Amino acid sequence: MPITSIQAQCPHPGPADVDSATAVSLVVHKGRADLFVGGPCNNYCRVCYHGDGGPASGVMSRDEVIAALGTLALDGRVELLVFNGGEPTLRADLPQLVRAAKDLAFRSIRVQTNGRRLGYHAYARELVDAGVSDFAVALHGPRAEVHEFLTRVPGSFRQTVAGIRNARGLGAAVIVECVVTRANYRQAPEIARFAHRLGATALRFTLVRPEGRARALFPSLVPNVSLAAPYVREAVDLALGRGLAASAAGFPLCVLPAAAGEVAARRAIGPAEAGLSGGGVFGPPCAACRLRAACGGVHPAYAETFGWREFAAVD
Ligand code: SF4
Repeated sequence: MPITSIQAQCPHPGPADVDSATAVSLVVHKGRADLFVGGPCNNYCRVCYHGDGGPASGVMSRDEVIAALGTLALDGRVELLVFNGGEPTLRADLPQLVRAAKDLAFRSIRVQTNGRRLGYHAYARELVDAGVSDFAVALHGPRAEVHEFLTRVPGSFRQTVAGIRNARGLGAAVIVECVVTRANYRQAPEIARFAHRLGATALRFTLVRPEGRARALFPSLVPNVSLAAPYVREAVDLALGRGLAASAAGFPLCVLPAAAGEVAARRAIGPAEAGLSGGGVFGPPCAACRLRAACGGVHPAYAETFGWREFAAVD
């Protein structure tokens, strides 16, 4: 899909677009540009938003990526450029694409990855030398059995952890990204302690969304948000206390109020994360809620599954 102008589309814009089958290659939102360069993935995550027909499941050719970079550079409003997937590290030309972005004077260049190829030190170095400033690495558990239940690939935990260590050792920032599910919410504080021990610079929890591959599995993956919220709250507070930029997304404010420092942490993680989760629906408790304007609401698939009993207007 040739890109000649910036399209302000989002692959995760909210429930209204969950059914969209349109392939998305470029998303620009609040100073952040995500290039969905695509490609297959070497994990098979239950929580994947891209796999199995997710909105960003196409593949960009090298020429399309280079053209998009040129368009974005000319526009001049992009503060953070993200090479997103599929799994971008499986593209043989990723270092060249990163270098092309660097040559176009993009200052913050992120690779969104499962982190496994970064476990090869020479490869991690190649990307950092090409110009990657930070990696956003999916880590869904503090131990192999939890992480690999969700990735469904034996050995993926060890490689991802090695990748985070390599990236930090090379001086790149690392955002640990954890999708919150029934399988891992109780381990959220342990994930925060583990991310800190690995030297991560930021930690982001996101409630699983019914998109891509996660869509069919959503009823068995999504936890009751009121059960998960105390664990995520503890984890975010713990991480903030240890100096990580930490935040949680996808939780309505009545079950998980934003912590002091969390909005600033969202900005540190990326301009597009500065807002609340957004895109949800509002139910009977929301009518009199003073936080309604700031709240992202509740995903309709969640409300359909669990109803509104967990939510209460905030006076
Ligand atoms: S009651 Fe509704 S509007 Fe208020 S915080 Fe909860 S979900 Fe958001």
